[in-house]
Amino acid sequence: MPRLGHAVILLGPPGAGKGTQAQRIAERYHLPHLSTGDMLRDNIQRDTELGRIAKPLMERGELVPDDIVIRMVEDRIAQPDCRNGFVFDGFPRTLAQADDLERICEKYKFGVTFVLHMVVDKDLLMRRLTGRRICKAGGHIYNVYDRPPKQEGICDLDGSELIHRPDDTERVISERLAAYERQTRPLADYYRARKQLSPVDAMAGADDVTSSIAKILDGVEAPR
Ligand SMILES: [Zn+2]
Repeated sequence: MPRLGHAVILLGPPGAGKGTQAQRIAERYHLPHLSTGDMLRDNIQRDTELGRIAKPLMERGELVPDDIVIRMVEDRIAQPDCRNGFVFDGFPRTLAQADDLERICEKYKFGVTFVLHMVVDKDLLMRRLTGRRICKAGGHIYNVYDRPPKQEGICDLDGSELIHRPDDTERVISERLAAYERQTRPLADYYRARKQLSPVDAMAGADDVTSSIAKILDGVEAPR
């Protein structure tokens, strides 16, 4: 029986809110939210053939090869809960993976793949990330630019110290963004050429981002 679902993929740099939006889309459309990290953990836990190959590699901190990852992805997509589609965040990362995913979607008779390209303003994103401060005691999140605490360096809620994580410094973030850019530009070009890429303004508020995504997805789900 042909499947009516769509593959939904989120492409976007760290800090663009991919995880949040992926979760919201998954809930709104009752689709499973897939991640290769979860698949690896699940295969290892169930002690599958793929899990037994991946486990020692992960324990040594090595990358799990593409062919193993793609087999896990195919196994997962073949499950009945993906029949109406799925939301992927963090995959594919390479052109080879994108090709494999398209092949799998064709094999299981999915509709057109939906790639939501979370477009960010780099300066604004940098400000958002470098301004982040986290409360030591409760993990409450502040931003010195957009959401400052009443008293500098102190959590409004519990009076504990606010820390600036080393991951949130300008140098670390610009390196991560540059790496993302190198890795993702070819993917964006690939999906654009296939007319599957939809730009989304990721700098808007989370609710606005969700509604622009819903408009795009609802357009596709309408009869054609
Ligand atoms: Zn706090």
